[in-house]
Amino acid sequence: MAEQFDVVDIIRAKRDCNALTKAEIDWIIDAYTRGLVRDEQMSALAMAIFLNGMNREEIMQWTQAMIASGKRMNFSALGRPTADKHSTGGVGDKITLPLAPLVAVFGVSVPQLSGRGLGHTGGTLDKLEAIAGWRASLSNEEIFQQLSASGPGAVICAAGAELAPADKKLYALRDVTSTVDCIPLIASSIMSKKIAEGTDSLVLDVKVGSGAFMKDLSKARALANMMVDLGTDAGVKTIALLTDMSTPLGLKIGNALEVAESIEVLAGGGPADVVELTVSLAREMLNSVGKTDVDIEAALQDGRAMDVWNKMIACQGGDLSMPLPVARHSHDIYATESGILEKLDALSVGVASWRLGAGRAFQGEPLQMGAGVELFAKPGDMVKAGQKLMTLFTDEVDRFARALEVLEGAVQIGVQAPSNSSVILERIENK
Ligand code: URA
Repeated sequence: MAEQFDVVDIIRAKRDCNALTKAEIDWIIDAYTRGLVRDEQMSALAMAIFLNGMNREEIMQWTQAMIASGKRMNFSALGRPTADKHSTGGVGDKITLPLAPLVAVFGVSVPQLSGRGLGHTGGTLDKLEAIAGWRASLSNEEIFQQLSASGPGAVICAAGAELAPADKKLYALRDVTSTVDCIPLIASSIMSKKIAEGTDSLVLDVKVGSGAFMKDLSKARALANMMVDLGTDAGVKTIALLTDMSTPLGLKIGNALEVAESIEVLAGGGPADVVELTVSLAREMLNSVGKTDVDIEAALQDGRAMDVWNKMIACQGGDLSMPLPVARHSHDIYATESGILEKLDALSVGVASWRLGAGRAFQGEPLQMGAGVELFAKPGDMVKAGQKLMTLFTDEVDRFARALEVLEGAVQIGVQAPSNSSVILERIENK
């Protein structure tokens, strides 16, 4: 049967700054998923979109077409509200780990279908695989069982192959064609997966700063507004927080290190920025499904969130009695002068952690679970010359040199404390 469109005409239309029609978008996403449109053709179209953009209508159609490329999930049979959170990705961002069990304490199911890290930002599934025996792939029945009232109420697992398969193909292609950091493509990629997942409400954590895709506030705001619109139009109650990613979140960066820090938060401790963001996102998720009169901090202090965490990890085969992996080698970095720590750059620390073995350079590369960076000071802290600022961890001693190279210039000590004391910069909801 003859195809409805010629792919070259569609690429030319976008190259020449024309808007694509719904029929053209439906066809190209479907034809790409079927393998009829080839990777080199989709690469050319992605680059044309990167350079010339898409209007609101095109982004909506593109998102819908990616949802339609696979199956939608439906959690209505649970008989409980569902709420999810998605972060656009940052350095030391382990928030999903304490957040999912914390929200589930209040009778809200949290279907956290997550991904793996690529590049300098870590992936939630990679982090949890630092726990002995923990399994990321679950059947739909297992996901439902975990989300039900008789299960822990929260699940963090891999998104199945049937959820927005067009995005899986396109995202891998964008990653190798320098077309990731593009608002229409990021918004449609994230929202197609979240809408297909079938959650009642969604809280977006849109990162801003050197360690994020969006380096400045105005671009992050535009991305957040677009995603909030896409979610709202699809009937998902969606709000976004813009949060600081100019410096790493918390003090531990790397897979096992971040699990350890998450457990500190679940035990009622942990760094102030991680606790602030966890509690704020939990509040937004609970409010979005009508749970307003809840004491969230108490659930971290009295062990209820930890109980859900233990149950959630055990359901997926994780053995928390086993020690977390520890790297074989470490290297300390000291302050060269006294003063206020003015800057500790997120991107540099993220790339250092990646080069130490915590992240992968290509899909499927094995990770070093103990690799990463531990920080001993954060921007705004007073430091003294000779004081330890951070420790680098790796299993392969020859990785230190390249990590140290990227950390040159990452630290700035001076006299001025940074102006923002809160990790949350702005809140965006549909008017
Ligand atoms: N995360 C996604 O899922 N997609 C993007 O395009 C960027 C971040």
